[in-house]
Amino acid sequence: MTPALFAIFGDPVHHSRSPLMHNHVFKRLGFPGCYTRVHLTDGTKLRKTFFDLGLQGANITVPHKEAAYNACDEIRGFAREVGVVNTIINENGKLIGYNTDADGFLFAIRNFENVNDVLILGAGGTARALASRLRQEGKSVHVLNRSAGRLAPFADDGFATMTWDDFTPKGYDLVVNTTSAGLEDDSLPAPEALLLPLLQQSRYGADAIYGKVTPFLALCADNGLRAIDGAEMLLGQGVLANRFFTEERYSAESIEEVMRESFAF
Ligand code: NDP
Repeated sequence: MTPALFAIFGDPVHHSRSPLMHNHVFKRLGFPGCYTRVHLTDGTKLRKTFFDLGLQGANITVPHKEAAYNACDEIRGFAREVGVVNTIINENGKLIGYNTDADGFLFAIRNFENVNDVLILGAGGTARALASRLRQEGKSVHVLNRSAGRLAPFADDGFATMTWDDFTPKGYDLVVNTTSAGLEDDSLPAPEALLLPLLQQSRYGADAIYGKVTPFLALCADNGLRAIDGAEMLLGQGVLANRFFTEERYSAESIEEVMRESFAF
């Protein structure tokens, strides 16, 4: 049988562990699939590239998750609420978009206790998905971003929003870095003068970036926060995406068990 082809689109994309995770699951569970990386600079070319490559499904990473929403014929589930897609399935020539990041993040923080007030750093696609999902869970969500432009849709949606200029640090139960600061460089997601008093008064930290101790995570540790990197979120979103890729042939539990093995590679 010809294997079904899958890919992750992003810019940058070389850091992505998704090929390792999904290929390992395909192999261990006996699914005829093959998953690769596609470096895509222009998000408007996503749909054409998807079909040109003959893909059956894809994940989308920074900075194309909003472009992915526009590339789809139909959006299902939570992605409809947030306008952000990280998983696409080819259903008989139609592209169906889903968002698995938000539930992946809830999976990642499942052992954090009494989290009510959350501060999200960044206002991109990931921030949007997390903010909406956390609010659905009854959390009070605040969003802090470097520039005002991308905050507008959050404010329109009723979130408390702030730029660095109008932020007064206070304590939160959880501070989440969804910016790409620290991904390719050693920068903090906000000036240290703001982050220090913020983290000194906060309880938990989480970074969406995985596979490295970012300057944000290091600062969390220095200030006594219990903090996690994005690996569990990556696992959580990957399990849900893999269920779509494999047409729900396998349980989430069996995919999780096998996908977790790939984190040791
Ligand atoms: P976007 O490009 O949509 O958004 C990026 C945001 O980061 C913007 O708000 C931008 O601010 C801000 N930003 C970028 N650089 C800096 C900087 N140097 N200092 C401060 N703010 C900065 O990205 P995504 O939301 O798609 O992804 C964000 C991060 O989350 C990526 O690192 C990605 O790898 C990670 N991620 C991890 C997942 C996982 O499973 N672990 C899943 C999804 C994402 P501005 O508006 O001012 O430009």
